[in-house]
Amino acid sequence: MRFSRRSLLTGAAAILVAGRASAAADVDVAIVGAGAAGIAAAKALKKAGRSFVVLEARDRIGGRAFTDESLGAPFDAGAQFIHWAERNPWKKIAERLKVPLEEDGFGQMPLVFANGVRMPEEERTRRRSGFARIWRALEAGVAADRSFAEAVKDAPPEIAAAAGGITQFSLGEEPERVSIADYEQLWSGDDYLVPSGYGALVARHGADVPVRLSTIVGAIRLGERRVELETPQGTLRAGAAIVTAPVGVLKAGSIRFAPELPPAIAGALDGLGMGAYTKIALKLDRERVGPLEATDLIEVVDGGAVSFEFWPFGRDLVVVLLGGDHARKLCEAGEQAAIDFAIERLVGMLGGHIRAAVTGGRLAAWWTDPYSRGSYSVARPGRVSAREALRQPVGGRIFFAGEASAGGGAMTVGGATLDGERAARAVLDAQHWRTGSLPRRREKL
Ligand SMILES: Cc1cc2nc3c(=O)[nH]c(=O)nc-3n(C[C@H](O)[C@H](O)[C@H](O)COP(=O)(O)OP(=O)(O)OC[C@H]3O[C@@H](n4cnc5c(N)ncnc54)[C@H](O)[C@@H]3O)c2cc1C
Repeated sequence: MRFSRRSLLTGAAAILVAGRASAAADVDVAIVGAGAAGIAAAKALKKAGRSFVVLEARDRIGGRAFTDESLGAPFDAGAQFIHWAERNPWKKIAERLKVPLEEDGFGQMPLVFANGVRMPEEERTRRRSGFARIWRALEAGVAADRSFAEAVKDAPPEIAAAAGGITQFSLGEEPERVSIADYEQLWSGDDYLVPSGYGALVARHGADVPVRLSTIVGAIRLGERRVELETPQGTLRAGAAIVTAPVGVLKAGSIRFAPELPPAIAGALDGLGMGAYTKIALKLDRERVGPLEATDLIEVVDGGAVSFEFWPFGRDLVVVLLGGDHARKLCEAGEQAAIDFAIERLVGMLGGHIRAAVTGGRLAAWWTDPYSRGSYSVARPGRVSAREALRQPVGGRIFFAGEASAGGGAMTVGGATLDGERAARAVLDAQHWRTGSLPRRREKL
């Protein structure tokens, strides 16, 4: 083979670049993902004077906190409530940014249907009593770290139905696949709503963080002196990486790790799964819908329950919620099939005039979204310690963070934020940072 002078020069330059890179990283920390955890980690590193790059696969920041405005009436396709507001940093962030909040109160009782027909009052009373009585059955399952389904297997059917209602609606998962002990450790408190959108609030808070959008991290290599992150736009070398990609993405192997993740982390991922809490929003012509007896409806259908909330914050929308395997199938069937499903359920409950009232629709298909692969993490029965295990750094340089490792704050934006800050502190505390072997803050890379 003959070499031109140009190719020889290019080759020499490549050797020089490789030589320099082996001595130093491009940046102190690479952050994978610009959701709540990634944004929080970036802000903490900025404050500490470290250089960082945030690599985000999507063309926007916020991750699973996203206010969808495409129907002309905004709705939160992902996170909606500021949970346990007493200790949730987002209540204070909203106040600082002067974003109004509404305390979530108990509204009207919903109308309940079963396969399109109003549920008789005695059946409703029986079901309600299932919810009132389930806690005793669950308490017994906490210590043994059982599943919801196992804890209620000998209980009357209304208690089993209540278990399905809790896991599908709160966790997006079937009762056989959820650890009661994990559910028990979740924080609770006052909930607030963000009428202008929780996703919009997260995006506003993160707007001052520099992020490389549409940059998919496909592989992370752990070396002795640095971490290399492979993206279609090139390889980034960093002293450490904070990986906030959701558990669903990590479990799918969308990011290859070399060497393979150690058994502690692989075991933690094995002990976690992703729920499929799903929203369908329909834009409606209110005049055509006509008066409603109640703005909240619940329909028990084969495979689970579906909730319908009309006119959220006075907008011309109905937001449809469902979770578990039924929701998974709808996500897999695609947006049009999900919209058709929602319309047919409404027609069954309210009448055929609803069809003509629908002017648009959206499916928030987190389950099939390649950058989330589910709504939020759930711990499998017997695996309550998985969240804690995910916090262990790999080789002192790779740190996982996000809602899945947020302990009692898991499954929430607030938890992801606190855990992003925790990971940034862990990076700053790591031994190699104290020895000063990594470069101090650099100017723009
Ligand atoms: C339908 C639904 C309802 C919810 N309701 C609530 C609620 O009411 N209240 C609440 O507090 N929480 C709620 N949540 C949960 C909340 O949205 C999440 O817990 C939180 O947003 C997670 O933040 P995170 O930073 O851990 O992950 P994410 O927000 O998922 O951020 C991770 C980021 O990594 C990016 N990424 C993934 N793969 C790659 C890759 N290979 N390379 C580069 N980037 C990558 C993703 O695009 C994403 O932006 C809800 C979630 C859903 C889906």
